[in-house]
Amino acid sequence: MPSRQQLLRVRRILLASSASLGYLLLCWLAFAGGFMQLTVAGMLLLTIAVLASMAGFLALTWFNLNLRFHDPSLTFPQMSWAIGVIFVSVYFAESLRSLFLMMVLVVLMFGAFRLSLRGFVRIGLFTALCYGLLMVALIHKGVVFDWHIEAIRAPAFFVLIAGVSMLGLEMSRLRNILQERNRDLQVALERIQQLAITDELTGLYNRRFANEVLDQQKALADRGTYDFVLCLIDLDFFKHVNDAYGHAGGDAVLCQLAKILQRVVRDVDFVARMGGEEFLLVLSNTNEVGAMHAMERLRQTLSVTQWEGFAQLRMTLSVGISRYVSPEPWQTTMQRGDRALYQAKDSGRDQVVVL
Ligand code: GH3
Ligand code: MG
Ligand code: MG
Repeated sequence: MPSRQQLLRVRRILLASSASLGYLLLCWLAFAGGFMQLTVAGMLLLTIAVLASMAGFLALTWFNLNLRFHDPSLTFPQMSWAIGVIFVSVYFAESLRSLFLMMVLVVLMFGAFRLSLRGFVRIGLFTALCYGLLMVALIHKGVVFDWHIEAIRAPAFFVLIAGVSMLGLEMSRLRNILQERNRDLQVALERIQQLAITDELTGLYNRRFANEVLDQQKALADRGTYDFVLCLIDLDFFKHVNDAYGHAGGDAVLCQLAKILQRVVRDVDFVARMGGEEFLLVLSNTNEVGAMHAMERLRQTLSVTQWEGFAQLRMTLSVGISRYVSPEPWQTTMQRGDRALYQAKDSGRDQVVVL
């Protein structure tokens, strides 16, 4: 199945194909009117050539073969092929030359959104080459030109081509600006989304995102075969740090603790700052015993931690642990964890309590 971008390309080729079908209809009308110096076999050949090229471009894109080309939209090959076909049909319907050549403008409009200045110059040169070849072929065929009219007709055709190309270039430029804006917006959106779930001070996830994670964890656990445990962590007497070292000192301690927390948990676990000096760990695929061991390790780590810039500082923490019991709301698990944390505080702090 082609990707979304490939489908867009298929859509554009279908659009161009419908214009080609319109052109074929015009050719058959001219043939019926006796303007085409072609036999039925010749007309059928022209029709088959156009239909086959349409099918070819469609197949190339549908089967992703176009991706091997420098420009996967195949704009230049499609446009030059269409212009070539127009000039060939003009050769056989010389009396309708001016009318048929207007079709080149339609082809240029199709390239408007895709071609760069270089592309338009290349197409312009290609068209000029076709025009020259046509004139040589017509002279060779014995057509007698009124050079007074030709001296106006050719420049008029190229002025039209140049005008449409410039319009096309402008459209192409606007399209690029729009794409750039969209990319910038996307980056800004991602940044905003990141900010919305991040705690500014520590860089950990915030309470808002923790709530989302808990919703997901509950959904997973309610399906069975999956357990998770909440650990609510609160620094003991943190207010004293602020009092002794100022708010900035307190902030530095919180940042260092955030790094310690991220180190002690596994990659699959989740760490968030819930506010102030309170943190939440969500330990997945474990039970109270596993969580207890992990939190005791954390307590030990803290007892030997050197707080950067505060050589004398010793910090302890209290932890409340509660396992999620399906199908309770996770808020209930959280309340149990809170009660466990208060028990830890009440019982003298620097300890882990499971409820
Ligand atoms: P306990 O052992 O009972 O938890 O005592 P505590 O002093 O840690 O607890 P309490 O909740 O009474 O005080 C928490 C302090 O944390 C109060 C507040 O000023 C401080 N605090 C909250 N957020 C921040 C912050 O972002 N930065 C700093 N530096 N301090 C904060
Ligand atoms: Mg505290
Ligand atoms: Mg607190």
